[in-house]
Amino acid sequence: MSEQRAAFITLHACPLAAPGQGKSGGMNVYVRQLAAALGDMGMQIDIFTREHSDVSNRIETIGTSVRVIHIKAGEPEAHVGELYAHLPEFLEQVNTFKEEQGLEYDVVHSHYWLSSWVGRELSQAMGVPHVVTFHTLALLKMQSRAGEVEQAERPVVEGEVMATADRIIAFSPHERDAMVRLYGADAAKVSLVPCGVDLSVFCPLDRKTARGRLGLNGDKILLYVGRVEPLKGLDLLVETAAQMDSEQGVRVMVVGADVNGDREMDRVKLLAKERDLEDQIDFVGQVDHNELPLYYNAADVCVVPSYYESFGLVALEAMACGTPVVATRVGGLSTIIQHGSTGYLKPWRCPDAFANSVEMIISSDGLQQSLGEAGRKRAEGMGWDNVAAMVWDEYAVLTGYPTKSDNKY
Ligand code: UDP
Repeated sequence: MSEQRAAFITLHACPLAAPGQGKSGGMNVYVRQLAAALGDMGMQIDIFTREHSDVSNRIETIGTSVRVIHIKAGEPEAHVGELYAHLPEFLEQVNTFKEEQGLEYDVVHSHYWLSSWVGRELSQAMGVPHVVTFHTLALLKMQSRAGEVEQAERPVVEGEVMATADRIIAFSPHERDAMVRLYGADAAKVSLVPCGVDLSVFCPLDRKTARGRLGLNGDKILLYVGRVEPLKGLDLLVETAAQMDSEQGVRVMVVGADVNGDREMDRVKLLAKERDLEDQIDFVGQVDHNELPLYYNAADVCVVPSYYESFGLVALEAMACGTPVVATRVGGLSTIIQHGSTGYLKPWRCPDAFANSVEMIISSDGLQQSLGEAGRKRAEGMGWDNVAAMVWDEYAVLTGYPTKSDNKY
């Protein structure tokens, strides 16, 4: 049995939930893939998450050394906004499980602010280091878009955990700077480790074959992938399509489901109707994560119009498939995408600027190919094995594990 043991706390993002619907997205993908890759390196990981309505087994395994343990705290259907009140109950249940099974861990790694509260308490009680990845920060989200409202407790907990955590993982220099500037975090405690991508799943395929499998004709395809919610800025995608004066046929594909009933989806559909684009936009709904390479490969351009992204896994997945990305210059997107080399970053959420970049790409096969090749090359440095080795080393500094990575972000 391995000597390295970590507990992951991911209260509301079960790594087994399908991303792209409800609240499931990049965080669920990150937790699952990171744990699996650390497991492949020999670490035993228990992931503690809240019991939710689709749980069939209390304990599920991923590979040979990762377990997902569902802990009852609050009603399975409870909304994320109600979970703060259930944190003590979750902590107590994790402790009970740990004691019943005689489990010890060398490090606790928590994901998102709710989990960071639990991770802090648990690590302090066990006398082991606490590593935290916030995934998003309340103060940054609220600064990014008028109308973003966060629970009052959230920035307070984020600040308190930043002060006590042994190590904080930030996805980009932008996120690290925000921790220091907005929350007073100690920069020396913040490490930059990017998200990763599964390079064997997200890889270049023959475009014609991918299009054939999706039943597409010869139109140029603009692709959006992600949860449908206001922060994702889908209005900009529609306005961009409305600005295109390409002589070629252009279709827009929106992959992903609405986070909140159909509120944002209805708003986007209405805008599409007002712009007379109803027949050009396909709302595909949620697609199985492992089916997405077909969509990225069928697309000419992947558009990421978000108001804010702490990382932006979708951009990295598109690049890994060799598809150019046009994105807003915000958060982690400005770190992943190299402007002019792997795609284009637009400083303003301005449809003219987006349309101009998209037009440039779809009207030049040579440009599309060179951006795509550079994107794949960049993504190759961000496979999960590399990223997991960097995270392992963050634990190693705190626990005395032997180090693994010679790769720095
Ligand atoms: N995704 C998916 N199916 C969908 C839509 C999205 O598997 O129908 C996945 C996508 O591949 C990506 C994640 O959901 O891995 C979204 O992550 P991102 O960081 O772009 O956004 P977040 O959800 O974290 O805001």
